Order: sequence, then C-alpha cells, then structure tokens
Amino acid sequence: MQSATTALAPHTIDRREPTPTDVEMEILYCGVCHSDLHTARNEWPGTLYPCVPGHEIVGRVTRVGSKVTKCKVGDLSAVGCMVDSCRTCENCKAGLEQFCLAFPVFTYNGVDKHLGGHTFGGYSTSVVVDESFTLRVPAGLDLAATAPLLCAGITTYSPMRHWKAGPGKKVGVIGLGGLGHMAVKFAHAFGAHTVLFTTSPGKVADGQRLGADEVVISKDAAAMAKHASSFDFILDCVSAQHDINTYLALLRLDGTLALVGAPEHPLPVAAFSLILPRRNFAGSAIGGIPETQEMLDFCANHRIVCDIELIPMQKINEAWERLVKQDVKYRFVIDMASLKGN
Ligand code: NAP
Ligand code: ZN
Ligand code: ZN
Repeated sequence: MQSATTALAPHTIDRREPTPTDVEMEILYCGVCHSDLHTARNEWPGTLYPCVPGHEIVGRVTRVGSKVTKCKVGDLSAVGCMVDSCRTCENCKAGLEQFCLAFPVFTYNGVDKHLGGHTFGGYSTSVVVDESFTLRVPAGLDLAATAPLLCAGITTYSPMRHWKAGPGKKVGVIGLGGLGHMAVKFAHAFGAHTVLFTTSPGKVADGQRLGADEVVISKDAAAMAKHASSFDFILDCVSAQHDINTYLALLRLDGTLALVGAPEHPLPVAAFSLILPRRNFAGSAIGGIPETQEMLDFCANHRIVCDIELIPMQKINEAWERLVKQDVKYRFVIDMASLKGN
C-alpha cells in the first residue's frame, strides 16, 4: 500500500542477496492477519510506506547461505512476525525475542538492518530471513492451513500456556476471528472448559464445532450474567472497540483477562472491575521462536490447523473489507501461485 487510504496494489520490492546465515524462500502461502490491516491503514500510528504486510508465511527454500544448518534447498520453511532481534538481551536469551529490549525486527514495518529503510512482509513472492528466525514445518500438515499458525496460532497458544489453560480451568475466548478460532481450538486441546463469547449469532454452531463447550452471545446481558465471577482466564481476541468491564466482571478471584486483540483506541477500565475480587488485566504478544516451533510441533501431533478460505492475491482488497465486517471463516490465506505469470 502506498498510503493509509489507498487500496493494495502491485508493487516491486528488492530482497537482499542471502548472507552466510540467510535462507531465501519462495512464498507459497501467506495468511491475512487483522494486524496487516491495522498497520497498512495506520490505525496503530507509525506505518512506513510503501507498506507490504504479511507475517504468516509458509514457503519453499530456494537458496541458503554457506553456514545455514536449519534447512536446505527444497525444504519447507516458515516465517512469522519477527525476522530478527538483538539476540543478546535477557529476553532474547530466554527465547522471548518478541520482548527484545532493543525491540524485535518485525517482518514488516521493521527496521531493515541489511538494505536500510523498512522491512517488507509476506504478501510477496519471496523473502530472505536469517535462519534463526525461520521455523521448521512439520510433515503432514496442510500447508495453506498451516500458514496462519505463524501468527494467529502462536499468539493464542502462548498465553493459553502461560496462564495454564487445562483440565479443571474455565477459559473464555472473546471474538471468533482468526485468533479467536485458534484460541478455542487450543483451550479445548489443553483440556479446559472452553467458553466462546461472540457478537455474531451466525458463528454459534462453528464455535461448538471448533471445540467450545459453551457459546455465549455477548450482547445478551442475561446470558453474560450467568457467568459472573467464574472464569480463571479469558483471552480477548477482538480487533475493535468493546466494553472490557463486561468481561472483567466474569473473572473469579485472581482470574486474568489478557488482551491479544489490539484495537486502535484505548479501552477504558473501571477501577472496581479489578479491585473486587483482585482481578488481573494483562496482555500478551505473539511468542518467541522456541515456543513457535513447540506450537507447530504440537499442532502436527494433534492434527490442528487453521480453518481457512484460500484466496488469490487479486481478491485481497475484498478480503480486507470482509475482515472489517467480521465476515471471516476463519482466516484468509493468499495462494501465491495466483501471482505466477504476473
Ligand atoms: P479478525 O479475524 O478480524 O477477528 C476479530 C474478531 O473480533 C471478529 O471476528 C469478531 O468476532 C470480533 N469483533 C470485531 N469487531 C468487533 C466489535 N466491534 N465488537 C466486538 N467484537 C468484534 O482479527 P484477528 O486477525 O483475529 O486479530 C484480532 C486482533 O488481534 C487484532 O486487533 C490484531 O491486530 C490483534 N493481534 C495481536 C497480536 C498480538 O501479538 N497481541 C497478534 C496478532 C493479532 P465475533 O464475530 O465472534 O464477535
Ligand atoms: Zn498477525
Ligand atoms: Zn533482545
């Protein structure tokens, strides 16, 4: 995109020659995250143009540098939201590169240390990434449906693990979009009693199919009231404004509501939503490289992938409009073969 208000249109970018530790890959599939849209439209201020979004990348390796050991030409490989970090701070050393104290280099709109300028993401035909920030794609997974695991998957897996979703826990998921549908799948797979909150009555049956034990229409005040003070953990996956206090009221003593959804504007929190009874309001960002690999391997072992709608690149503007209207089931994935011959 050339500005916050123009549509996505074809554009030529440069990729660097692989360094000794770099992997070059042909991009096969790239998922469409709501963050792509927030960024491209400058809803989180700071977007650099031209903007090439995309951070849910599955590709095939086409060239490797002389020191690369993680993959070889012809292998499948994947890239998520980060392409580098300082690698020396305490958070990087702990495998939590997303919290790098020097700020991680994001796959798009990050500082390009090699070519100067800013990084360009996966809505493109190829990418060059240091091997440390590539992921192994386990065998047996549908590749297009694996791509969104690189953001929607890890962003929901990580907090579910951190706040210990599992047997005996009551876990809520707010919003059945790309992140939300993976959150439901993981909470269910980890053995938690899983409750989905949706604003869309048309998504109730899908919520149950994806693994929710209960589905609550969040606009139904009486249905919400039945769950007052009962949740151990709630993961908020909503992309737009909503009343957070309504959900905080559903937490039990010491329960936690974590935001992964990142709406454009602040979400007001009433003091008494937290004070009684000692509730926690938290946040979480994607996941580090080791945990992202763990998540991919978990998905392969449990036959978990995303529910996707595969689109050609030519339909990307239409897909974004549908995303804004909550009309996504449950992740758009761009088939890069649609660009062949262009
Ligand atoms: P998405 O596929 O568009 O899903 C968002 C869902 O939120 C919708 O399907 C809808 O679910 C609900 N929703 C939307 N508008 C709403 C409104 N006005 N009121 C109430 N609910 C509404 O988006 P996504 O790709 O999953 O991303 C979700 C959010 O997470 C975005 O803000 C994105 O930027 C952020 N994100 C954060 C991280 C991180 O590391 N923290 C990583 C990736 C994405 P229902 O129809 O079920 O109500
Ligand atoms: Zn994302
Ligand atoms: Zn660091």
